[in-house]
Amino acid sequence: MAERSFTEEVKKLRAGDGEIFKGEGILAITKALLQSGVSYVGGYQGSPISHLMDVLNDAQEILGELGVHFEANGSEATAAAMLSASINYPLRGAVTWKSTVGTNVASDALSNLASAGVTGGSMVIVGEDYGEGSSIMQERSYAFAMKAQMWLLDPRPNLTSIVDMVEKGFELSEASNTPIFYMMRIRGCHVTGEFVAKDNRAPRYSNTAPVNPHREPEKIILPPYVYEHEREKIAQRLPAAIEFIQREGLNEVFEGRFNHVGIITCGGSYNTVIRALQRQGLADVYGATDIPIYCLNVAYPLVPDELVRFCADKEQVLVLEEGQPEYIEQGIQTALRRADVQTRVFGKDIMPMAGEYTGQVMLLGITRFLSASRRHDIPLTMKEQQVAALETPLVADDIAELMQQLPPRPAGLCTGCPERPLFSALKQVQEEMGPFHISSDIGCHSFATAAPFNLGNTIMGYGLSLASSSGVRHALPHKAISIMGDGGFWHNGLTSGVASAVFNGHDGLLIVIDNGYSAATGGQDIPSLVEPNLIASTIDADRPKRDHWQSIEDACRGAGVKWIRTISTYNIESMKQTLRDALSSSAPGLKVIVAEGECMLNRQRRVKPLLKQAITTGKRVTRSRFYIDPATCTGDHGCIRLSGCPSLTVRENPDPLRTDPVSYVDNTCVGCGVCGTNAHSAVLCPSFTRVDLLHNPNVVDRVVTGIRRRVHNWWRRRDLKRQQEVAL
Ligand code: SF4
Ligand code: SF4
Repeated sequence: MAERSFTEEVKKLRAGDGEIFKGEGILAITKALLQSGVSYVGGYQGSPISHLMDVLNDAQEILGELGVHFEANGSEATAAAMLSASINYPLRGAVTWKSTVGTNVASDALSNLASAGVTGGSMVIVGEDYGEGSSIMQERSYAFAMKAQMWLLDPRPNLTSIVDMVEKGFELSEASNTPIFYMMRIRGCHVTGEFVAKDNRAPRYSNTAPVNPHREPEKIILPPYVYEHEREKIAQRLPAAIEFIQREGLNEVFEGRFNHVGIITCGGSYNTVIRALQRQGLADVYGATDIPIYCLNVAYPLVPDELVRFCADKEQVLVLEEGQPEYIEQGIQTALRRADVQTRVFGKDIMPMAGEYTGQVMLLGITRFLSASRRHDIPLTMKEQQVAALETPLVADDIAELMQQLPPRPAGLCTGCPERPLFSALKQVQEEMGPFHISSDIGCHSFATAAPFNLGNTIMGYGLSLASSSGVRHALPHKAISIMGDGGFWHNGLTSGVASAVFNGHDGLLIVIDNGYSAATGGQDIPSLVEPNLIASTIDADRPKRDHWQSIEDACRGAGVKWIRTISTYNIESMKQTLRDALSSSAPGLKVIVAEGECMLNRQRRVKPLLKQAITTGKRVTRSRFYIDPATCTGDHGCIRLSGCPSLTVRENPDPLRTDPVSYVDNTCVGCGVCGTNAHSAVLCPSFTRVDLLHNPNVVDRVVTGIRRRVHNWWRRRDLKRQQEVAL
């Protein structure tokens, strides 16, 4: 199961020499890996490279035919450790994860890998989650590349460059014995285009052609070898990398007719630069430019000779580098001053220190830079004031006004999400017991920190909620509550959270949300993937049983937890009682509630095609929807505040004597029943009704429906008659 199936697209990975490969950036990377003769691939999902994991997963048949080993790693640290295969042996390997969070998790193994150095080309494809739409702290992988001495590739976002840089990246890694970061931004992952394919290459070593095991003690990261590693990094690996980058022309210079100015950009920003120049009438859509551009497809290390060559005859250059600190700009200043080149370097003095260089930011910055030239022969379509005016203050005012009038709309849980009833139950228990301090975690459940639940105080990292309760638990008026997803539990919560808590006598409550998938990253499988027997319907019974299933309860028991309860999240009353029990229990030690309910988004993806097929083939199928009776709905919307289901909305009151809008269930309802159960559990109102939609009724259904209709009509006729008698 995954967010997106690439089963059809991966067939393109078989394209051979000279064929035109058309598709997305993510697919192109996979094809480039196969063309490079990788021996192993792995990774851990996370935006924006979850789809790369999905592609690799769907491509297992092709990988297997070539003898490429694939693993869906348990965490980024395990993925990084996988690269150790390339330390002693000439095995090419690639792993992938979201950065910087994944790089932080993998940092120990990466530092050691970078210290030992590699024999086979090693590549970490990092999904750089920076800028607009980013979901994490605003940091960049650049800092890690510099401090660990790993080279950072940032290719121009077009398929030919993307593929070339994967192939050249492996060669660079081998030429300098250094692991490589290959940076993909979200727009690059999904850019579409084409390139001329080459044949796939089977790895030199695989299970059919094994390596000769041997030791190289000098590659072990212990003294005295580590001192030599540092010397080697500076004296051999860095010069070898710079020499390779120059020789192979990995960075690109695009000449222009205004030679007294120049732009230095990272590859990932190149398309935005060209667009800005195009809007100023200084470039065309094919990239022909009037302003010379030096494009850093290798963002780290910088190549001083190339920089000097590009800048020496220029009056001024502009360095375009998103985020801060301005590492590249500082590096360029140093390289130029050391060579006594006095070209004026513009950068963060005219560009924003923080945030993505969007089209507007880039256009304004480049316009400012070109307007600052002492020569006035560069014709601009728009002056700086005109560009600035494109972001009209009127819009900004409108936004400010709207922000005052409308509540912010943070991301929320999906329709029918199994986590919603858990948080409704927790909210109701909080009403009884007073406010809770809750340590939250990474995952869909982090959305409960927003309205309407407003539950959760801190998020420290994936699987770290229980660990982050340890410092505050002694100072709370209630048992410390930590909430963790099953993804976080297997990522590291079991060891850094549960094992540590048991060891330290933590007597708080851990709620593990067992929705069966790594749901927030798109629904990748995890060790405790839901078993089919947990759900009763015939559709669900079709679900294939998983091999290697691992139980969260057994894992907790194995770590020493004695108090464990497993409760369906949809059973709100039972969940409330279990929460009360856990929070008031005098039993020593950690209490664990496994809150179980399959991710509704993934369930719908799984079940919908089966339902459709069953209906088409004439099978009897029932589907439920919920309905709110507008005659009894009081319009206080307590149901919406208590659940926040996106299917619960409002509409005009049909009663002309009442003006308050009534609550209403729209057609996206998946019939989970939480709104109705909440209304009952919190004693809200009797307005909720379940409606069963029956497809392909059988004989019994028809007979029962006929009887029901007759009885119903009889009641109606009788009521009508009585009303007429009263009227007379
Ligand atoms: S993806 Fe699944 S777990 Fe996440 S919010 Fe949606 S239904 Fe809930
Ligand atoms: S039954 Fe209620 S809570 Fe569940 S999906 Fe429908 S409207 Fe939402």
